[in-house]
Amino acid sequence: MNHLPPLAFCLSPLDRADEIRRDAVALKALEKHTSAQAVLFLRGDPALDGNALLRWPYSKTVNMTQAADPILLGLENGAPLYAVDLLPDAETPGLPEFTDTRSAGMRVSVEESGILAQARSLIEWRRKHRFCSNCGAETQQTEAGRKRTCPDCETEHFPRIDPVAIMLVVKDDWCLLGRQESWPERMWSALAGFIEPGETIADACAREIREEAGIQCDPSTAEIVCDQPWPFPSSLMIGLIIEAVTVGITIDEYEMEAVRWFSRDEVQEMLSGTHNEVDLPPKIAIARRLLEVWAARG
Ligand SMILES: [Zn+2]
Repeated sequence: MNHLPPLAFCLSPLDRADEIRRDAVALKALEKHTSAQAVLFLRGDPALDGNALLRWPYSKTVNMTQAADPILLGLENGAPLYAVDLLPDAETPGLPEFTDTRSAGMRVSVEESGILAQARSLIEWRRKHRFCSNCGAETQQTEAGRKRTCPDCETEHFPRIDPVAIMLVVKDDWCLLGRQESWPERMWSALAGFIEPGETIADACAREIREEAGIQCDPSTAEIVCDQPWPFPSSLMIGLIIEAVTVGITIDEYEMEAVRWFSRDEVQEMLSGTHNEVDLPPKIAIARRLLEVWAARG
């Protein structure tokens, strides 16, 4: 692992309160804590207070009819912090504007962004998984939002996390970047793809590179460099550097508009914003971190 500062969404100050979640009496008492607070979401977007998540007194949300069950995120300096998801047509007088999560992630501190990632992933998961995938009955929140349980067939449902391999393919002093047609002009980034069932991280990495760029890599060289929760809606990005065995590129035109080798000197220019053709993803993105780590090794 590297010694660079933590990426957005990667650091949370909360104690997730594991031992309290199975204790109904303790959970009830926690709701009455005088310093209990909530972060508020509307249609997946958080309310901000300047450059921090808005903290709203939890007591004011208890009787809100315009919100789904609050989710306990954890303890912040001993006091509970909940995520409250307002119904899409809720009226919000007296509340500041709700900001989209990506912009919010770039504005708030890294500790706040960790809370944001947890809250948003849980809220989105609940919104899309209200019914039991085994029998179709409506599920109920249990353990203060850490899971949902079916009252009919008793199946337990846990929040979804989708692992994604994102990899910088390297060969000597060169690395491989690609771009998709839908991306902003000039933007290039590392190749990436979802890990499939029955696949190791290294094998997924090598397969994606073969599919998207026609390049063979040696899975035994795959090195996990960093990782990052990515709450859009529930990915876990696993950042790797892997060595190529071949260099000839055959792109998958369905996925990629272009794939190219770039020198380490060019990557230094991209990182300093002086490359005349290429912009990298913003600092919030793990792809940029991979390039920072590799460039520093030169
Ligand atoms: Zn069921």
